[in-house]
Amino acid sequence: MEQFSCSLCGGEESSTCFTAYDFDSSVEPFQLLQCNGCSLTITQPAPSPESLDEYYPESYYGSGRRKFSAVIEFLTVLSCKLRAKKVVKQISRKEVWSA
Ligand SMILES: [Zn+2]
Repeated sequence: MEQFSCSLCGGEESSTCFTAYDFDSSVEPFQLLQCNGCSLTITQPAPSPESLDEYYPESYYGSGRRKFSAVIEFLTVLSCKLRAKKVVKQISRKEVWSA
């Protein structure tokens, strides 16, 4: 297994959150790891930038700016905003940078 290194705080300890599967095309498993220092959750190993088109083809996003149904779109935006607030709060904590 690839050595964990948090891109946010530099921590090297992680916990496995769960394994997710690409159910659209490859059924390939992806392991999600959470940093024990700052809770940043990442996919490991991360897909290469070149492979992202395979996982997110044009049809994945729907038409125009709308990607999902209105309810899912609302929950997605809300989740992103809450996560962004949490990350900003973590970044502003001195402990993250001195770890
Ligand atoms: Zn971290």
